[in-house]
Amino acid sequence: VPSLPEPITALTAALSKLPGIGPRSAERIALHIVQSEKLVAENVARALIHAREKISLCDICGGLTERQPCDFCSDPRRDHSLICLVERAVDVFSIEKSGVFRGTYHVLGGKISPLNGVEPEDLRIAELERRCASEGVKEIIIALPSDVEGDATSFYLGKLLSPRGVKMSRIAHGIPVGSGLEFADELTLSRAMEGRRELL
Ligand SMILES: [Zn+2]
Repeated sequence: VPSLPEPITALTAALSKLPGIGPRSAERIALHIVQSEKLVAENVARALIHAREKISLCDICGGLTERQPCDFCSDPRRDHSLICLVERAVDVFSIEKSGVFRGTYHVLGGKISPLNGVEPEDLRIAELERRCASEGVKEIIIALPSDVEGDATSFYLGKLLSPRGVKMSRIAHGIPVGSGLEFADELTLSRAMEGRRELL
């Protein structure tokens, strides 16, 4: 059976490793690219490599950044005694868009989930502990989703950091389960921030 030329199947295989792109979409994109203007393919390739080379995780907060430390961590006008803890790097930008928060951030990189093999040591918890010890952190606002893993992770962090004199609070349950912070509008988010409750 004659199959597609190897460069096309190779491109399809590479594309299908990306999130949200199944084998059919991957093949469709690959076929589109090989039949489009060369410049189109060159621009995509260049942007891909440029973004990957320029962006790294901030050494302090774990956020996406072009420089070390990131703009949030290096901004003296922000309140460095206040940390908003989020699950994913993209959550930082959702909260920033709402304009309700003037502290700094910490990206956990996931939630504790023993069923999925995610243990505390797989997350950026040690980095958070280090910040609490060295940066004069007074309060951590936990902005994790209100699902089972989010609850378990909040509970774990409360137990870990409250005894060290850090006030641990959690944003009010205004963010629907499963939707993620990126869908929360500004009003919901600012209400959730204001209505945050201290973990006991
Ligand atoms: Zn940072």
